[in-house]
Order: sequence, then structure tokens, then C-alpha cells
Amino acid sequence: MTRDVRVDTVQGKVVVAWHTEEDGLFLRLKGDDEDQRLVCRCGRSHWIIREYVPPGAVSLAVTCHGCGTRGTFSLEEVRPSHS
Ligand SMILES: [Zn+2]
Repeated sequence: MTRDVRVDTVQGKVVVAWHTEEDGLFLRLKGDDEDQRLVCRCGRSHWIIREYVPPGAVSLAVTCHGCGTRGTFSLEEVRPSHS
């Protein structure tokens, strides 16, 4: 069963995989063995997602559709999976 995780809790953490589904954005955090659904502090889970692939660090930036709260994560590898 998928757990929900608040964006404030996982801010800046390392994500090894992520994917989107109808009901939200799911992140696999480094060291975890299951995906967690990212939930905003406003209770919504719809995010505008941007992946940055500059030379060097790769990161994932999300912005809440509802209230504009932002979150940034480090991506260990570039492996987005769309389902
Ligand atoms: Zn929000």
C-alpha cells in the first residue's frame, strides 16, 4: 500500500525514481523500498513537474497546482517512468 508523504518532509531528499498517475506524483526515495505519493501542505497532490538536467546535478522541481508550494529533489539518475 502506498504511503502519502508531505512535501515539507521530503524537501531536498534524493529521489531514485518517480512517475505520475491519475491521482498524483509518486516518488521513490533513496533507501526506501516503496513509492510514496507526494502530498502538498494544502492537501492536494497535483504537481507541475520540471526535470532539470544541467551539467552536474540533476534535479526534479515540483510546483503545487493548487497553492504554488514548491519542492526540489535531487535525482540520483535520470529515469522517469511514465505509466
Ligand atoms: Zn498546495
